Amino acid sequence: MARVYNWQLGREMSYWYAGNRPKRQWAAVFDINKCIACQTCTLACKTTWTSGRGQEYMFWNNVETKPYGFYPMAWDVRLLDMLQAQQWNNGHYDGQTIFEAAPAGERVLGFRPEERDYSYPNVGEDDVYGNVDKGAYFTPPHAAWMFYLARICNHCTYPACLASCPRGSIYKRPEDGIVLIDQNRCQGYQECVRACPYKKTFFNPSTGTSEKCIACYPKIEQGLQPQCFENCIGKIRVQGWINTPEQAQEDNPIDYLVHIRKLALPLYPQYGLEPNVYYIPPIHTPNEFLIQLFGPRAPEAAREYLKAREDRKLSGLLSLLGCTTKTISYFAVKGDKAIAYDDQRQPTVEVPITEPTFIRPDFDSVREVIRQNTP
Ligand code: SF4
Ligand code: SF4
Ligand code: SF4
Repeated sequence: MARVYNWQLGREMSYWYAGNRPKRQWAAVFDINKCIACQTCTLACKTTWTSGRGQEYMFWNNVETKPYGFYPMAWDVRLLDMLQAQQWNNGHYDGQTIFEAAPAGERVLGFRPEERDYSYPNVGEDDVYGNVDKGAYFTPPHAAWMFYLARICNHCTYPACLASCPRGSIYKRPEDGIVLIDQNRCQGYQECVRACPYKKTFFNPSTGTSEKCIACYPKIEQGLQPQCFENCIGKIRVQGWINTPEQAQEDNPIDYLVHIRKLALPLYPQYGLEPNVYYIPPIHTPNEFLIQLFGPRAPEAAREYLKAREDRKLSGLLSLLGCTTKTISYFAVKGDKAIAYDDQRQPTVEVPITEPTFIRPDFDSVREVIRQNTP
């Protein structure tokens, strides 16, 4: 095994192939606090990419309610159980990754779900953890909680699917870091299904090959957002390019949220894949759970998010989420406006940070009627 540097763990780790970062890496940020579980993203992906035979059970994008929702069933808790308790120490991961914990003769610690594990795509929806005591909602984090976790492939820097494929059918595009399965090479061994800790590769029994989220690369290549981003009702998503921490750029929205403000965090960084979808953690969830999902910085990120409205630059950037169909490569906040720019630094959209408010007079003198203002 080669030694590669994983900045999310703050250390080198073992990986099947030598480190080879792409020219630039596609990445995304999801603001969990804004997701309403409408599943529009799920359907936008399904109707675009997975409406064929053998794809009936596939959800390249899914949204599950945590802590009791899973697709496939128990995908994360089963692996956490296999990996056992591990330790972080001052932002440095002292535990084992799923590559380092692989049993002898295997490349990755993992499991292949049973067919029945895919039978309930929306299991646990809206189930709340804890008792609902009177007044318990007012001080976050609080005892009764749940949140919606939208998930797609993370187009990982060190993909477990790629590492595990005995045919070498999975590749990471050098131009944008998007991870794809070559349908002509794949023989359907399903090692990727076993290895991906996020369970984001799916076997198609009709074609005998495995398939996965392609990050809507035909749209990315045209500077457009993927289907599940463009159609997101809650405007929780932004997609663009991420640099390594030492090359972070202040005007790059992903770098700003991930590296500079450290507000958006990877999902299960301890697995060691350096996933490239980042989450602004929910503000009302107990710290233990947040740390398990998003690493040791999660409670601080949730606290920072609560103060976002006092911060012009941050609230400006957050206002841009979901406001354009184009990729936001750069952004700026000028006065009361947040402006998005494309790859050529051309402005694509600008939004007001403070929404204008209009107060209608109670008495309409033109029609001579009294109107009620409903808050
Ligand atoms: S999330 Fe899974 S399928 Fe996607 S790149 Fe990472 S290991 Fe591969
Ligand atoms: S990025 Fe595209 S392919 Fe991937 S889950 Fe979203 S809609 Fe589906
Ligand atoms: S469309 Fe957006 S708000 Fe709706 S479930 Fe998907 S991620 Fe959440």
